[in-house]
Amino acid sequence: MMETKRDFLKKLSLMTVGGLMAGSIAPVIASTKNIPTVAGKKSIGLQIYSLGKELTDNVPAGMKKIAQIGYSTIELAGYGNRKMGQYEIDAYRKIVDDAGLKITSSHVNPATRNFTRENVDSIYEFWKQAVEDHVKLGVRTLVQPMMPSIESHDDAKLVCEVFNKAGEIAKAAGIKWGYHNHNMEFKRIAKPGETPPSGPFASFMPFGDVIYDLLLAGTDPNLVFFEMDVYWTVMGQNDPLEYFEKYPTRFPVLHIKDRSVLGQSGMMNFENIFKKAYANNLVEYYVEIEKIKANMTQFDGVKACFDYLNNASFVK
Ligand code: MG
Repeated sequence: MMETKRDFLKKLSLMTVGGLMAGSIAPVIASTKNIPTVAGKKSIGLQIYSLGKELTDNVPAGMKKIAQIGYSTIELAGYGNRKMGQYEIDAYRKIVDDAGLKITSSHVNPATRNFTRENVDSIYEFWKQAVEDHVKLGVRTLVQPMMPSIESHDDAKLVCEVFNKAGEIAKAAGIKWGYHNHNMEFKRIAKPGETPPSGPFASFMPFGDVIYDLLLAGTDPNLVFFEMDVYWTVMGQNDPLEYFEKYPTRFPVLHIKDRSVLGQSGMMNFENIFKKAYANNLVEYYVEIEKIKANMTQFDGVKACFDYLNNASFVK
């Protein structure tokens, strides 16, 4: 059964009884105790991977700086060995709380990219621990950001099975489990028995199935959501809007990313992306920036991205 957006929001709102995000996006979430946002600023999330060493060198100071820029929520990166970077889970949460930020999500990868019948149990064990630790961090969502190895339909089938199970483990603890894409998910793999096209124009001849489509079709919407990285989707030569149209309930969370600072390249149509995402009841999004232009620090880039969205008329 397809889970409706209403169900998803209802569950999120149940999880936000303690007060989480200032949800200008989804009124049903923004019920009682919203986290304080910086006066006059929109509720915008940041994937902290964007800051790299500039954050990890001094996490307490960096978290305060993120809040000062105006961000309200953060999505973590760097969980491993049951710690967040060099910090114990509880200590890390306190640093973020003290900065006035809210941890709403986290990117976490299991130890292996090669899922086999023999190692799935160790992967489930990993997710159990990760879920337990992330309950303490207060997240609403837990996201796998890297693609497991998928070379065939059988591989895709096993990956979907593992994703569903990870979703089940998270769901039992009140957390939504999701998958974040890069561009490699838009690679095509031959259908069983099919020979891929060859020759100079092979790349213009679609064949087989797109891996991302297999993941969408093979996972249970009640257990697995998709955090689309809109930039990497474009890099995979696909249109985010086509996916929003085809799967209106599967993308409640987005990564908002551009070549560098948001809105400065000719690649991304953020106005169309936000319009369609809001129409599909977007719940949360995270800014991400990797390549910083010359003479800019990561923090400069993260601030420029915030300012772009905070000033954009099409962002609520
Ligand atoms: Mg991303």
